[in-house]
Amino acid sequence: MNKLDGRTCFVCGKYLLNNTPDDLSYLQVHTGGTMKVKPDTYHLFSCPNCNKLAHKRCWYNVGERKKRKGLFGKEWQMICPGCGHVLSSPRSKRTGWNRGYEIPGHPDTDLLELQVPEVMSWKAGSVFGKIGRAIGNFFQAVGLSSLTDPEKSSIGRAAQKIGKSIQDVADRVFKLNIPPEKRSEIRDLKCQNCGAPLPLPGEFEDAVVCAHCGTAHLL
Ligand SMILES: [Zn+2]
Ligand SMILES: [Zn+2]
Ligand SMILES: [Zn+2]
Repeated sequence: MNKLDGRTCFVCGKYLLNNTPDDLSYLQVHTGGTMKVKPDTYHLFSCPNCNKLAHKRCWYNVGERKKRKGLFGKEWQMICPGCGHVLSSPRSKRTGWNRGYEIPGHPDTDLLELQVPEVMSWKAGSVFGKIGRAIGNFFQAVGLSSLTDPEKSSIGRAAQKIGKSIQDVADRVFKLNIPPEKRSEIRDLKCQNCGAPLPLPGEFEDAVVCAHCGTAHLL
């Protein structure tokens, strides 16, 4: 799930780790009626041609194109909304979503499956994922694990300056989130966690770590 954090669906533009009741999977019930997959589950599917990833529901809504056949007939065909790759030949019928719709040629068992309760508990444990949270006007709180390698090594160097290592750095990292032209307005820096004054960084430093509580700040 780490890999999906912050990534968006190329069809609806929303986060892949977010879902709505419409996304939830149903079983194919042959006696009629509908039955939701339990626990609540939804799927992600990536185009075999362009690899773009989207909610299965978004493929259903947007990828399934309705084509007119003759005067009164219609046909369905799955076409990637990203690259135009054709995923199925025209079919006269399409299974309704609540009847256990599956992407033609790609059964649910081949798809990336997400169980809603698991996604929820994962999110609860990573409140400071890439999405972050705006603090004041300057800083955004993000998780240490969501940072890029260069960002992590900047923090590692900043930690060394105060005799610590990256292992001592708290998981909640603050990222300065203001345009460069506004940076000169900053006269002093305070630790966003404990309020202790932070040393002003040198010209080539892009991180400082609070000596008092070990909270890193990316600049
Ligand atoms: Zn979507
Ligand atoms: Zn595609
Ligand atoms: Zn501090």
